Amino acid sequence: MTTAGGAETVPARGAAGPADDLAALLADIRGCRACADEWPHEPRPVVRVGEATRILVCGQAPGRRVHESGLPFDDPSGERLREWMGIDRATFYGRPEIGVAAMAFCFPGTDPKGGDYPPPRRCAELWRARLLALLPKVELMLLVGGHAQAWALGDRRPMTEVVRDWRALAPDALPLPHPSWRNTAWLKRHPWFQAEVIPYVRLRVGEILSRDPLSS
Ligand code: SF4
Repeated sequence: MTTAGGAETVPARGAAGPADDLAALLADIRGCRACADEWPHEPRPVVRVGEATRILVCGQAPGRRVHESGLPFDDPSGERLREWMGIDRATFYGRPEIGVAAMAFCFPGTDPKGGDYPPPRRCAELWRARLLALLPKVELMLLVGGHAQAWALGDRRPMTEVVRDWRALAPDALPLPHPSWRNTAWLKRHPWFQAEVIPYVRLRVGEILSRDPLSS
């Protein structure tokens, strides 16, 4: 696994090749400070992908806890996301097929109401297309939250409508609400999500993880 979150070491640049291109790009992302003038805190890009990434978790932006740990979804939202995926923490962080690349790689700060600011568009504009181009094995994108869905799909419908229409995107992508505790009431109001979408998410994730990770 190659990461720009600071929790693991990025491989050194070597002869040109796909792995080196990815390592070089991740090193550039890790060094990005494009938002530094707008925040009271130092940017800390967190992204965790590798050549073997097949399941790409596309969230919104790291929260404060992930900003401090450098490990994506190392928080209660991550616990709920793993439960939705039907995998445990060791699998989430240990299997090279699972990658995480949010729409913005850095914590954007906390707004006056106590929530996080939305992910800065600049980040996706700067990095997203280049990163995805170096992840050719991705076969399932989990679009977590309205910001990720709007960017990836160009779909401006409310998140609930996009998630309810999940079959239109399967099997290559699946829209999910953000697994934050802030969406617990949403989950109670929309029981079809747990009944219909989650079993399919687990089926797809399990099918991908059941294969040899080195298979092409
Ligand atoms: S959020 Fe993205 S664009 Fe902004 S500093 Fe972090 S890596 Fe750079």
